[in-house]
Amino acid sequence: MARLLILPGDGIGVEVTDVSVYLLKTLGDKHNIKFEFETALFGGSSIDAYGVPVTAEVLKKAKSSNAVLLGAVGGPKWDSLEYEIRPEKGLLALRKELEAFANLRPAVVYPSLQSASTLKSEIVEGVDIMVVRELTGGIYFGAPRGITKLPSGEEKGVNTLSYTTTEIERVSRVAFQIARKRRKKLTSVDKANILDVMELWRRTVARIGREEFPDVELEHLYVDNAAMQLIRRPKSFDVILADNMFGDILSDESAQLTGSLGMLPSASIGSGGAIYEPVHGSAPDIEGKDIANPIASVLSSAMMLKYSFNMDHAADEIDRSVRRVLEKGYRTADIYEKGMTKVGCREMGRLIVEEIKKI
Ligand code: NAD
Repeated sequence: MARLLILPGDGIGVEVTDVSVYLLKTLGDKHNIKFEFETALFGGSSIDAYGVPVTAEVLKKAKSSNAVLLGAVGGPKWDSLEYEIRPEKGLLALRKELEAFANLRPAVVYPSLQSASTLKSEIVEGVDIMVVRELTGGIYFGAPRGITKLPSGEEKGVNTLSYTTTEIERVSRVAFQIARKRRKKLTSVDKANILDVMELWRRTVARIGREEFPDVELEHLYVDNAAMQLIRRPKSFDVILADNMFGDILSDESAQLTGSLGMLPSASIGSGGAIYEPVHGSAPDIEGKDIANPIASVLSSAMMLKYSFNMDHAADEIDRSVRRVLEKGYRTADIYEKGMTKVGCREMGRLIVEEIKKI
């Protein structure tokens, strides 16, 4: 039995999550997998109903489920609320509750969408990268932090970049394990030439590799060089491991190689569970029009099957079906090109499910 907590959230989050649930039910029937779905309010919709972006009860449910599938949160309706009760606070609370320390962001260039990239086709053709970003430590959480006034009247802003060996070890293991299931190459990104904490990062990653994953090739790059090589030779990367801040930047850079926000899934793996969600937001500009691209959510479901349930074959079926639908020329508005067939969110979902049934 696979217990799933479904948090559609706001805006197009609801529309794309509907497609994913429909697809998971189809896969469940096909492979006799017993999924138990529970749906709850989250983000703006939870604020409207309960006054908070996530209730204690939903956090408890998240912890007791095997995986959480999330849509997206936010929208203009809640933009003027105090920071503490904004929809995004729900995301942070959920990540904290599940201790989601490893954020996984794949960037895959599909042959039929190669022209969507801003880079030349021959550079991005066949790109298939997984960025593993440390998510709960580093400079975004380190103390001391804040802005203080100096005796001179001038202000001083401080943030602290710190990592313990344990924090580096656990995210390294996730990255090495993923690399082992893929092309067995890991690139660890740091700034060990300048920062002491990054020297510890490099030393620790190297030790984990040597002692536990000798079969995975390990490369170390300084972050400035990594940013450059990512657009120069993206095909040479398999798995990229980075701390919270460098990973934040590099995962967006690698996403841009693919060219379309509506195609990007993500996973946040923690010690207390895992969250799967599209990279995009709630897109209020297209909400309720049935034109959102559901593929980022669909591929997030595929990641869930792979990383939370070890159902690689079912994840692979989703991936193959998405490729086939794209090869046949079906496109949602965001990835539409002349000569293709434009379809809406629900229709794209139906086409993917039809392909799954055929495999
Ligand atoms: P967004 O990702 O929602 O939208 C950016 C642009 O991309 C919009 O033009 C939108 O129409 C388009 N787009 C996004 N996803 C698409 C899809 N699946 N199909 C077709 N087009 C798509 O980012 P934004 O406009 O900056 O933010 C809107 C709201 O979403 C804000 O409230 C923001 O805080 C929130 N947000 C939430 C998350 C999250 O839940 N993880 C992430 C980013 C933004």
